[in-house]
Amino acid sequence: MPHMETKQNKPAEGWAERPRQDRCPHFRKCGGCQLQNMEYPRQLAWKQARVERLLSPFCQVAPILGMEHPYHYRNKVQAAFAPGRGGAPVSGVYQSSTHRVVPVDSCQIEDETADRIIVDIRKMMKSFRITPYDEAAERGLLRHVLVKRGFSTGQVMVVLVTSSPVFPSRNNFVKALLRLHPEITTILLNVNKMHTSLVLGEDERVLYGPGYIEDVLCGLTFRISAKSFYQINPVQTEVLYRTAISLAGLTGQETVVDAYCGVGTIGLAASRQAGRVIGVELNRDAVRDAITNARRNRIANARFYAGDAGEFMTAMAQEGESAGVVFLDPPRAGSSQAFLSALARLGPQRVVYISCNPETQARDLRFLTAHGYRALTAQPVDMFPWTEHVETVVLLQKEENSLKKVQQRTAREDMAAPEARRGRL
Ligand code: SAH
Repeated sequence: MPHMETKQNKPAEGWAERPRQDRCPHFRKCGGCQLQNMEYPRQLAWKQARVERLLSPFCQVAPILGMEHPYHYRNKVQAAFAPGRGGAPVSGVYQSSTHRVVPVDSCQIEDETADRIIVDIRKMMKSFRITPYDEAAERGLLRHVLVKRGFSTGQVMVVLVTSSPVFPSRNNFVKALLRLHPEITTILLNVNKMHTSLVLGEDERVLYGPGYIEDVLCGLTFRISAKSFYQINPVQTEVLYRTAISLAGLTGQETVVDAYCGVGTIGLAASRQAGRVIGVELNRDAVRDAITNARRNRIANARFYAGDAGEFMTAMAQEGESAGVVFLDPPRAGSSQAFLSALARLGPQRVVYISCNPETQARDLRFLTAHGYRALTAQPVDMFPWTEHVETVVLLQKEENSLKKVQQRTAREDMAAPEARRGRL
């Protein structure tokens, strides 16, 4: 949901306006960064105001944790390819809400190695007779290039996304690319024949190396494949996870639930301070990666399950299971009422709610604070400098007598019309 600027958090004219020559020349056309016109401290103040506006009714909001060097933090970069004027290939980003490719060779937030690799691939295309894909005519070969880089390991993955598996002089192309960029550790070919805006197709072949890269986060090694979700700002991800885990106040004994766990990063990072960890995630590939990651790091007290987090929590509550701490990190749409109701019934001492959307987080906090929980603190973290996005960790604690309160409330609600109850969230 795009955030609407309000008068209150619009940058004041003339104050902390970023000089035009410093702004990205593609600002507005590209649409990736919305705050290119603000100096970095002003962006932080803008995000702080936004989180305070939404979350201060529930608890105090600590000052946002920003980046020391807020540039080139994106470890995952993808470029679209298309024929430019005269047919020569261009690479870059789609212009906001169109399918026109704006040529971009370097970006203030993307990894610089990744940008250089993409430019060199474009320059190699002519001599290898590789044509850029023309969406309108449905002709041509190279659609996208995706590069992922392990921040701590330096390992680099290049994915060539093509419209057909037939890639001219494939082996020579791979050799030439490795000669230019010996830092590349794996190259994949992904064939995407679909007419969708999804970058990656189903068909994936490894052309060089192991087909995945690894990265180190919070002292643990994680495997990253072409499709798996992995946070895109490694420096701030450590800040976020450390904040979340320290707020959880783990004792080493409790059962910890990591809901919406992705490849298991939060649960695994918390596992050494917990009795056991249970992770749940909808995406089966991510669950497979989470299990591999646990094994790779010799973590024996974590289990991961594929499924809807709401259904999983409901089953846990019905079976009379208990948990000391629940971490939840849902997508932008927030959590579901099924999940939140089951969470209140499960009744963990502490809930650590990580969210990339303070609007839906505020909505979910309204529910939890009406069902036996008290929000103690909110900590915003700037994971995405120059964009309008902000991540926030909120710690909630079970209120004393909360069981009685929830029972009273449920009894009252049972008397109310069921339709009214369903529409509440
Ligand atoms: N905690 C992880 C991932 C957060 S992104 C990390 O920090 O890397 C949110 C995750 O929720 C995604 O992996 C997405 O696949 C998953 N998800 C979305 N809807 C879900 C649902 N209904 N039940 C379980 N997981 C879901």
